[in-house]
Amino acid sequence: MLRSIKGLKDILPQQTPQWRYMETLAHTLATQSGFSEIRIPIFESTELYARSIGGATDIVEKEMYTFPDRDGSSLTLRPEGTAGVVRAVLEHHLLESPSTRKLYYLGPMFRHERPQAGRYRQFNQFGVEAFGTEDPLMDVEVIALLWRFFNSLGLKDLTLHINSIGNSQDRENYIQEFKRFILPKLELICGNCQRRYSTNPLRILDCKVPICQEATQDAPTLFDHLSPESASHFKTVLDGLTVIDIPFSMNYRLVRGLDYYTRTTFEITTPHLGAQSTIGAGGRYDGLVALLNGPSTPAIGFAVGLERVALLLSQHLSTPHPPLFFVAGFGKDAKPMALKLLHNLRETGIRADTDYKSVNLKSLLRSADKLGASYAIILGDDEARSETAILRNMTTKAQESVNLKEISQKILSLTL
Ligand code: ATP
Ligand code: MG
Repeated sequence: MLRSIKGLKDILPQQTPQWRYMETLAHTLATQSGFSEIRIPIFESTELYARSIGGATDIVEKEMYTFPDRDGSSLTLRPEGTAGVVRAVLEHHLLESPSTRKLYYLGPMFRHERPQAGRYRQFNQFGVEAFGTEDPLMDVEVIALLWRFFNSLGLKDLTLHINSIGNSQDRENYIQEFKRFILPKLELICGNCQRRYSTNPLRILDCKVPICQEATQDAPTLFDHLSPESASHFKTVLDGLTVIDIPFSMNYRLVRGLDYYTRTTFEITTPHLGAQSTIGAGGRYDGLVALLNGPSTPAIGFAVGLERVALLLSQHLSTPHPPLFFVAGFGKDAKPMALKLLHNLRETGIRADTDYKSVNLKSLLRSADKLGASYAIILGDDEARSETAILRNMTTKAQESVNLKEISQKILSLTL
């Protein structure tokens, strides 16, 4: 048997209603807050991701699906959405109109990671990006949208972790001090982090390896090195969250070790998913648009990992939408009438189905049961002759004979 590729996952019929629910909610809530949808390609030039995500990150170092095009140019399947959105925004001059400065997207991302529960090689994200303002109230708005999305899905026990990593000067000052702190402990930390010491020292704070967490426990915090402007920006973000009753937890380890990230960083975690506990994350990236040769433009966004959210929702799995009516037509004369009835029901927007494999009444009713239909409409040759049908309530098993001329009215009364 041919199987799907490692780390890729089918979303099966039992799960698609949940996915549609999540996606519809994402569309509804984002639109409500003034975000417009953008759909960007799933592959772009490798250069876009290498430049925007940055060389010293897990994504660019080891997770990208990169392949040569037929002309030899290097392409990459998108590992995240922000880079492509910024590219599109610049290419189509979207920053010039206030109506296209707040954007959202939904779709698959690709990263070559070690597959495990909640970590796949193709996974879906819902993300938003708000360009053009550094007002801390926009940070509040973006975080509030993320929080509302999870709340509306009924997710429980979530924690919003938040931090500020200041501007690039704040970070430069801090990195010098952090390097002095960690240098004597270099022997104690993991090999990856030893490398990060020279390439991207902030990432050491982010490392999940216990020896690294221990070694950095008493490290000075970036938070204590914020300039007055960064500190005041952050205070306004926290005050705003307090005004709208969003609880948060300060997390000094929440650093994004990239130059273009600035000020607010945040993530939302759940205690119910083991190691893959982050279901959404984001932050300010005031430097990225300029890095991609655009006009200097502040921006903030988040991305949600929808597979992880689906894992949380699957605790109450739903069945695919069952038909309201099952049309059980059998016999030479009755079958065309049953076909017409089924067609009419669907034309009226009523969920209706049948089963062509079942040939007698008994097996038809068994199918109706299996499909979870609320009612069966039984149409055999006897009924065809008397121009009636039998309406059967599949739960109570009560049956009544209905004149075919009156059946649409009867059906309508049942769907109200
Ligand atoms: P992690 O620390 O879990 O690797 P990340 O920092 O790489 O996450 P982001 O790039 O911030 O993740 O992506 C935002 C969200 O997308 C994550 O919080 C997570 O919910 C989801 N996500 C990231 N990578 C994967 C993956 N391989 N499979 C499923 N979901 C993922
Ligand atoms: Mg990752």
